[in-house]
Amino acid sequence: MSQPHRSADAELLEIIDIPDWDGPLPTGDALAREYFAACAEGRLLLQECPRCGHRQHYPRALCTRCAATPQWLQARGGGEIYSFSVVRQMGTRPFSRNAPYVLALVDLDEGPRLLGTVLECELDEVEIGRRVHAVIHRIAPDLGIPQWRMDPPATPEPAGDPAT
Ligand SMILES: [Zn+2]
Repeated sequence: MSQPHRSADAELLEIIDIPDWDGPLPTGDALAREYFAACAEGRLLLQECPRCGHRQHYPRALCTRCAATPQWLQARGGGEIYSFSVVRQMGTRPFSRNAPYVLALVDLDEGPRLLGTVLECELDEVEIGRRVHAVIHRIAPDLGIPQWRMDPPATPEPAGDPAT
């Protein structure tokens, strides 16, 4: 049975269908399948512990802090780049045809850290701390995987009154 589900005010994420996906398919237990199926509907799920409040990813049967049964929490999808790597050489298809590409670790605003590709970016524009948001690559009807798209650069604060 599905776990209780809390969505706050999170909206559905953009979904990009990849009908000709020929890469490996994500596998895992029932929780993993539920996670990937939710992604395919535009919902990025994390786990939150109802006892201690700890949030975690990837999905597990137990809270890694207190061993209670976690609940799903739908993330808004925003976060910032914790670290990244530019993949310039990749010997394995299908990823080789995308090189060079950027693989980033993103700290979601809700806490947990996720890995994904930064889509449609200039390599030299990617930087630690840059704001990104999740978009979903739907590679099968019940399989979605989160990727990242950079937010526009933050507009600088308006200059203060120079006459002080
Ligand atoms: Zn806990």
